Amino acid sequence: MYKLKVKDSSEEIPVQNIYCVGKNYLEHIKEFDTKDKAAEIPKSPAIFLKPNTALSCGNGSIKIPVFDGGKISDDLQNEVELVIVIAKDGNNISEVAAMNHVFGFAVGIDFTLRDIQTEMKTKGLPWAISKGFKGSGPVSEVVEKNKITDPENLNITLKVNGSFKQNANTSQMIFKINYIIHYISSIFGLRKGDIIFTGTPAGITKLNPGDEVEAELEDVGKLNIKVE
Ligand code: MG
Repeated sequence: MYKLKVKDSSEEIPVQNIYCVGKNYLEHIKEFDTKDKAAEIPKSPAIFLKPNTALSCGNGSIKIPVFDGGKISDDLQNEVELVIVIAKDGNNISEVAAMNHVFGFAVGIDFTLRDIQTEMKTKGLPWAISKGFKGSGPVSEVVEKNKITDPENLNITLKVNGSFKQNANTSQMIFKINYIIHYISSIFGLRKGDIIFTGTPAGITKLNPGDEVEAELEDVGKLNIKVE
């Protein structure tokens, strides 16, 4: 089972399920939706999952999968996100109780094969491989919640080769942490060791081999990933 490291601790967290929220920042919805489709704020969080093989902990590298000798995509993109780490099991967790179920927070990148996602959406087919391929969800060390004053007021940035591509604040999230936990736990149930990617701000961009990607979340830390 895949484990995340806890900052300044010998503790490790075996990761169970990996949930992700889509379309959780207005400026990203605007850049993502095409001209022929209005930028629409979802009425409830748009949830998808990544398999456990998507995970990696700490700095490393990412590459587009090869199948039978050919790269499956030509459009790898970055999505920097605040990641929630769940401390204990719960179903139907209320918004008031939600933070009792949080162990801490990390910064992660929801790497996306955008060409595949767009093609599958157009065809009305599942786009799991565009978000769930090997290594598509690197996550930093986890910082315990009591070491973070306000997880909903943290600068969140991503640089490619030293230039800012994403630069926002978690206060801009449409669906807040307590509501996301309430929602997912009511529908799927949450388990100790589940993690939740909470959506990306604007600034998604196509990455190329050799690019150095640096994600940073204030009070949490950095994550450096090289594109192979
Ligand atoms: Mg995302």
